[in-house]
Amino acid sequence: MTADSADSPFDPHRQNHPPDLDHKIVASLERLSGVFRHLLWQEATQSGLSPLQLQVVVFLRFHASGQGTVSNLAREYQVSRATISDAVKTLTQKALVSRHADPTDLRSHSLRLTPAGEQLADQSSRFAAPLSPPVAGLPARQKLGLYLSLLTLLHQLQQAGTIPVQRMCFSCRHYGRRPGQHFCHLLNIPLEGPQLRIDCPEHDAALW
Ligand code: SF4
Repeated sequence: MTADSADSPFDPHRQNHPPDLDHKIVASLERLSGVFRHLLWQEATQSGLSPLQLQVVVFLRFHASGQGTVSNLAREYQVSRATISDAVKTLTQKALVSRHADPTDLRSHSLRLTPAGEQLADQSSRFAAPLSPPVAGLPARQKLGLYLSLLTLLHQLQQAGTIPVQRMCFSCRHYGRRPGQHFCHLLNIPLEGPQLRIDCPEHDAALW
């Protein structure tokens, strides 16, 4: 065992002697990411697509057309523009996606689902359904604590530059604090626990 591996959160000895909750949480998150990878891969295989192609279809189904550009998708999935372009080329050939020139900038295109693409997205976007019952079964306080912890983790990862800007309240220029509560200055609503958003259509990235 090298000195570096001794510090790994994936080393059961380091997780347990003495009990190290930080390592156990990181290892648990890795297991959960494996569940997502597996479910996505399974659904993509059934649909005759690659996992990335399926992610693009699902993204286009639930986000405004202005967000459906090659550069935005590359940022979203942290891959190169060339990789997204390849995925889009295949989706276009399968008549699931069409390209539309931006009338204000003919070099720019937005991507839209065809009716067949929408149908596929509606069916395939349920690929994570096996995770819903265990989440729904958590006690309300535990569920809220988990959500707030996940928001905090994602925000810190974003601030560290590990992941791109998330469309969440904590990274939005409309987010603020009022005594004892989070607040949205655009929608003029308090953001009590469950109201904090992880993927907000009105999100506008803060510049700090
Ligand atoms: S616009 Fe959306 S993301 Fe921004 S603070 Fe309001 S609810 Fe949150």
